Amino acid sequence: MKLKTIIFIVFLLFLVNSIIFKYFYYYNKQNNCSIKISPSFEFSGGTIIRAIAVLKNSSFDDYQDLCQNVNTINTRIGCGGFGGGCFYQNSPNSITVSASGRDLTYAVSIIVHETCHAIQFSENRDISEPECYAAGRRILKEIIQF
Ligand SMILES: [Zn+2]
Repeated sequence: MKLKTIIFIVFLLFLVNSIIFKYFYYYNKQNNCSIKISPSFEFSGGTIIRAIAVLKNSSFDDYQDLCQNVNTINTRIGCGGFGGGCFYQNSPNSITVSASGRDLTYAVSIIVHETCHAIQFSENRDISEPECYAAGRRILKEIIQF
């Protein structure tokens, strides 16, 4: 292979890698946190990754709950509809979060709400809404204060 071709391939791999880390994968080695962001036509992977960063800075406990209970965030529209979230008991380590680019704080709130369901499931409790709506409201207040 020509040197030019090798340089091009290396550049391409680097580009693909940085795109994956920017939009499709959240990784924080220090906190042992890795979450796959599965893409959709919402193209909200970047928003989700920023939302996780906001969560980490505004409530570290909630961030750790997310890291420990969720390994995949689906960015499509789920049972919560457009701008909502969803938790499916048949894939208890994934949550679905529909987030448009402008609703960063709202996306954080949905992530916390759905993580709350993942915790309820992992603790063999009933999936109940009041606890998780309260968690979502609490994080909104914390972000505003932050
Ligand atoms: Zn819910």
